[in-house]
Amino acid sequence: MNEYPQIVSLPSVDTNVYCPEWWRRVYIEQINDDYEHKPCCVYRGTLSDRISDPNALYSAHNGSKQIIRFRQDNLNGVKNPGCGQCYETESRGQTSSRQYKIMENGTSNVEVTSHLDLNLGNLCNLSCAVCGPWNSTSWAASAPKELYYIEPHRRYRKQDRPAIDDPELFLSLKTIQLQGGEVFLEPNYLGFFQNLGKYRTYDDLSVTIFTNGTVRPSPEFMQILNQCGRVDIYFSIDDIEQRFEYQRNGARWSEVASNIHWFRVSVKDSIHLHFNTTYSLLNVYYLADLHQRLTSEFPDMRINYSEFNNQPNSRAQFSADQMTTNVRQICLDRVADIPELSFLAKYISIVEGDPYNKFKKYIQLYDGMIKKSYADTHPEFYQLII
Ligand code: SF4
Repeated sequence: MNEYPQIVSLPSVDTNVYCPEWWRRVYIEQINDDYEHKPCCVYRGTLSDRISDPNALYSAHNGSKQIIRFRQDNLNGVKNPGCGQCYETESRGQTSSRQYKIMENGTSNVEVTSHLDLNLGNLCNLSCAVCGPWNSTSWAASAPKELYYIEPHRRYRKQDRPAIDDPELFLSLKTIQLQGGEVFLEPNYLGFFQNLGKYRTYDDLSVTIFTNGTVRPSPEFMQILNQCGRVDIYFSIDDIEQRFEYQRNGARWSEVASNIHWFRVSVKDSIHLHFNTTYSLLNVYYLADLHQRLTSEFPDMRINYSEFNNQPNSRAQFSADQMTTNVRQICLDRVADIPELSFLAKYISIVEGDPYNKFKKYIQLYDGMIKKSYADTHPEFYQLII
């Protein structure tokens, strides 16, 4: 039934453009009854040809004229503007997703569509500062017009959407990453896995989940996760206590910490728990506090630090990659004893003027939306940048 090769032998290319993700990976985002697709979650924007059949995602993606053309461009060394984040990361001397994937996969054989980034909509109970209405229904319900970056067709409208049921896709997958909205709130993730289980077992599947930590999985979902070969759950924690409750509006620190402890004692050995911390101007000053708290209270869990940048319309107004000399030095001094945060010295470059202007405008609007004050909850850093 499969007219596309499962494994492609690519010429051994090692250019500054080649990326195996164009073949190996697919990002699918469900927008009500339609699906947008692109090569990976880092890719900016989506392809213009949408998919409407939840039972034919594999053939629609691999048969897409745009995908076929961009794959050929990639082999020919033609840069794709959607891959800009990888090129920018590399130009700073850091390792990009593209380079990590070449290290993992090499530059020859690729198993086609063996990895899925799955985003089944923006149903979410929080309105986090690093997020927006495209990824959260709470955000969409309360965003002022200046922060309402969402096209009308992307608004989450219904809950009775068909679950994906595509045997070609299910049989090609080795790894799946669940993201977008709150995974443990959106019932369609369970429907996806229940349908997958009609065609194959779960034991050779590796699953990665990003969660805001406020919701525990249903017993049915937990039963399926327990059958998977490996599961990695990342809790999105960017700060602690009242700063956490500002940055993750709607969440209570004590409840999330208690949920994480619940996971630690409840899950099987095949389920691994980690933190995913997004660093930005919101929290860069406080990262040492966070690091110390997480490593002392949850010593068995690794912290993955990710830069803030994943925003539509280049909405990176609180990226911490540019700071004034004195503020940068103060932030670096605070993490000087923490080797895991030494990457910040390379990440933050020095600029003149007021690199915090857009950030301050943003938090003014965000303060108004969530009825809290950044200045009150983060007084030390706020005083440095006003
Ligand atoms: S170069 Fe980067 S953005 Fe482009 S497909 Fe590869 S990993 Fe994704």
